[in-house]
Amino acid sequence: MARIFDVAVIGAGAAGMMCALTAGQRDRSVVVLDHAKAPGEKIRISGGGRCNFTNIHAGPKNFLSANPHFAKSALARFTPSDFIAMVEKHGIAWHEKTLGQLFCDDSAKDIIRMLLDEMRAGGVELRLGTEIGAVEKGADNFRIATNDGVVEARAVVMATGGKSIPKMGATGFAYRIAEEFGLAMTETRPGLVPLTLEPNLLAELSPLSGIAVEAEARHGKTAFREALLFTHRGLSGPAILQISSYWREGDEITLSLEPDLDFSALLKAAKKENGRQAVQTVLAQHLPKRLAQYVTERQGVERPLADLSDKVLDAVGSFLKRWPIKPAGSEGYRTAEVTLGGVDTAGVDSRTMMAKSVPGLYFIGECVDVTGWLGGYNFQWAWASGRAAGENM
Ligand code: FAD
Repeated sequence: MARIFDVAVIGAGAAGMMCALTAGQRDRSVVVLDHAKAPGEKIRISGGGRCNFTNIHAGPKNFLSANPHFAKSALARFTPSDFIAMVEKHGIAWHEKTLGQLFCDDSAKDIIRMLLDEMRAGGVELRLGTEIGAVEKGADNFRIATNDGVVEARAVVMATGGKSIPKMGATGFAYRIAEEFGLAMTETRPGLVPLTLEPNLLAELSPLSGIAVEAEARHGKTAFREALLFTHRGLSGPAILQISSYWREGDEITLSLEPDLDFSALLKAAKKENGRQAVQTVLAQHLPKRLAQYVTERQGVERPLADLSDKVLDAVGSFLKRWPIKPAGSEGYRTAEVTLGGVDTAGVDSRTMMAKSVPGLYFIGECVDVTGWLGGYNFQWAWASGRAAGENM
């Protein structure tokens, strides 16, 4: 008779591996199925190859979801400290880079190795290169059709992530299964993604391509202060990736460049001191040279300070404080780090991650409508939601 597993996890990514090792170490028989050739591919490429595996400040406020309360339970029960304890148990050296973001000193592969070791300790079976067909629920068990025969299990965990980076095997498969089992979905769209500009503005800003500057990017009441990067496609850098998750097509964002500086006051003081200086010279003391030149030309102030009224200098200052930009779009799933939206949390139990209407069917990680900020939050959600499901089976 064919073996029946307690748990079949579909997706050997961050969430799936955490769920599998947790259930396995609780003596459940667990099989993990993935169509990829290697587990944890997104972990491997994350954080520039060093994996920003968590954020010490991670809390519900750092996540976007139609229900901002949903993530609270899982996040409270598996915290950044819990993950750090696992990392330290495996002797993996780590450091805080900035803003509470923790990275491996050496390589993201250490995290994958750690998860695989923990899975092995729990007797988890990993089947890679496995194409999944239909997932059906029978009277007692789930039946998963694969290219290698049918896998039967008492519980199925959907951990196939979102649609981001299709080149790496992202499929949005969990969304299809959710719909087949009658769960609702919220709208999905690319998040943590560079923003593009319409051709005229792109041409106007093309001399700035490659320039990075400290900035605050704002959308309505939400603002992030980090580096901003002008690219040959538009805008990128952490400040833009962060605000992209809040931005909607047709909306405007505003940029404040070097937000600590009061350019209006700086220009007026410079005018008093030496009116023969050009505006560009003063701006270039605080901004990259090409950016100072662009601002000067755009504001039509290519003259010595003495020739310009304080009102005109105030206008330059307020442009640098509130530069309105209407992005044309985003680079899409091709480069997005995450997928916003997903399986509607209204249909999922926040304590166990089990579908309320389908006992034994679980959704964890990025496929659920919970999306973190940039900076280790998305992995923390993957670990926490994977743990919550693994502890319940
Ligand atoms: P995934 O890790 O995407 O795993 C899904 C798994 O399911 C994959 O192994 C995939 O092969 C498999 N799968 C998909 N479809 C199928 C199918 N149809 N059949 C079988 N298997 C399937 N977050 C951070 O917190 N810190 C970072 O430093 C960070 N860096 C990132 C860098 C990049 C370039 C990208 C793209 C993302 C980054 N993220 C980072 C986000 C983070 O990688 C994801 O949020 C996280 O991996 C989601 O975990 P998951 O387990 O839900 O899905």
